[in-house]
Amino acid sequence: MRTSIATVSVSGTLTEKLAAVAAAGFDGVEIFENDLLACPLPPEEIRARAADLGLTIELYQPFRDFECVPRARLRANLERAEHKFRLMERLGADLLLVCSNVSQETIADDGLAAEHLRLLAERAAEHGIRIAYEALAWGRHVNEYMHAWHIVRQADHPNLGTCLDSFHILSRGSDPLGIEAIPGEKIFFLQLADAPLLAMDVLQWSRHHRCFPGQGGFDVAGLVRHALNAGYTGPLSLEVFNDHFRQAGTARTARDGMRSLIALERQLHGAVHPSVPAGFAFAELSGTGSLGGVLPALGFTRTGRHRGKPVELWSQGAARLLVNEAGAGQGPGLLAIGLDSPDPGRAVEHAESLLSPVLPRERAPEDAMLHAVAAPDGTEIFFCDDGWLADFPPEDGSSSEDGSPRGGGSPSAGGSPGHGGGGITHIDHVALAQPPHYFDEAMLFYRGVLGLQPQESLEVPDPYGLVRSRAMSTPSTPSTPQGTGEGPGVRMVLNLAQVGAGQPPPQHVALACTDVLAVARRLRAEHPELLLPIPANYYDDLEARHDVPPELRELGVLYDRDERGAFLHLYTVTVGRVFFELVQRVDGYDGYGAVNAPIRLAAQHAAP
Ligand code: MG
Ligand code: MG
Repeated sequence: MRTSIATVSVSGTLTEKLAAVAAAGFDGVEIFENDLLACPLPPEEIRARAADLGLTIELYQPFRDFECVPRARLRANLERAEHKFRLMERLGADLLLVCSNVSQETIADDGLAAEHLRLLAERAAEHGIRIAYEALAWGRHVNEYMHAWHIVRQADHPNLGTCLDSFHILSRGSDPLGIEAIPGEKIFFLQLADAPLLAMDVLQWSRHHRCFPGQGGFDVAGLVRHALNAGYTGPLSLEVFNDHFRQAGTARTARDGMRSLIALERQLHGAVHPSVPAGFAFAELSGTGSLGGVLPALGFTRTGRHRGKPVELWSQGAARLLVNEAGAGQGPGLLAIGLDSPDPGRAVEHAESLLSPVLPRERAPEDAMLHAVAAPDGTEIFFCDDGWLADFPPEDGSSSEDGSPRGGGSPSAGGSPGHGGGGITHIDHVALAQPPHYFDEAMLFYRGVLGLQPQESLEVPDPYGLVRSRAMSTPSTPSTPQGTGEGPGVRMVLNLAQVGAGQPPPQHVALACTDVLAVARRLRAEHPELLLPIPANYYDDLEARHDVPPELRELGVLYDRDERGAFLHLYTVTVGRVFFELVQRVDGYDGYGAVNAPIRLAAQHAAP
């Protein structure tokens, strides 16, 4: 299908926008009037520039508050339209978007609306221009797409059709099935936008929170399917108003929009993700040695060292952490994530087809083939089969620098903690800090490229700001991770300092254990300095809400419940830019203890 994007969707000047849109691979563009008015180039030159870039000008927009006006106003409106038609001729655009009237003075009369739009279409026809009439969700009288279509049908002019906009349709909760009753040739244009599901004024929602398909909560692909069933053959055109996109890089947003359309077309064809990861192969942290003793304290043992690079492998059960001296200067932080992939080659091909940058790897001939891409937040994502472990041979006869016994044999032996009971079995989730303005891009990346599905979305209060948080997971995440044999699945949490962004929220690696209380007892006895202190007030409240053992208070273990089960978790202090969380999911608890996140954020601010 042809692809298009409204110039309002990306930042920059009109000429910057055209260049970025063409570079991202779009076939066409909707010229937004404000972009043209602010552009120093005459329309003829904009037309030539678009043509040179291989872009069709699909539509000019918007033309507002035209129909259902008193007679005197109609004359003025038609003159206004004549001016637009002449401009469009210079621009080489032959489709004008007319949105339903929002003025208080609008006369509620469908017959009058049809009559006025017919007049407009007759005038437009003299210029070889067509009119696409769109119901704004906040239109004074016409705010439903079927209402707009009925008026277009009544006006009955070949140069008049309707414009469908997924935001206006889905934000009102209208059933998009009705689209199939509209003859395809009368759907002159189809605009696509997604949005998070918010309870707010629809005009504000539209102007600030639209996003690309796949980034919000609407079934945009389902709506497109109805338009295709109706016989629509025009372009899929993105029309997004978004505060962050306005501030983000022009080329990057254009590419993100193209990624959303590629993913949407795949969805239309019923394509399934070729290689959904089964679990975490590893998390790679910058740092040196045992991260200052934290890893052995948590029960990890050093089980190998990369044969050619300054990278150590620390293991416990199926949880594997790589410690990479590269970048250690900035202190510990998450550099990369390895995912157990059923087909790493296909996974990276799929990522590349969704415009993700594939990372070049310098590797020695004997090293395992590595397939990796860069996530929008800069995290490197590796798609792994078991081969990578061979690059980390055990160091015979040595013991780890902290004197803890080295884990014997294969790191995938599973279950046996370095010391103490209740040991860590695998990586439960990883929480990544997102840079400002690219949260929606990250969401689409993790959804489209990794095949994760969005879960809970929250705003978490921090003492000095607000953190936006979105959890995502593989669809197959079993309710009880341990012992299912399919792999525990992948869970990620994306965090963004939404307000008070003095510094990005810390990253964390959450480690699943079989008995978090046993681990907590051991940590309390041997390394109390590693535990994040939790206020007594938290436990006073928790004990009033839930029947929990008093030991939680002594150990600094936090608690949550969902409809399925319970969640026990504790946090270490932050080391560099990262901290560890130890979690125990009981009876298929499916969340992340988000209710406790504000307590954690405050405790982290209070910690020395
Ligand atoms: Mg629209
Ligand atoms: Mg967590």
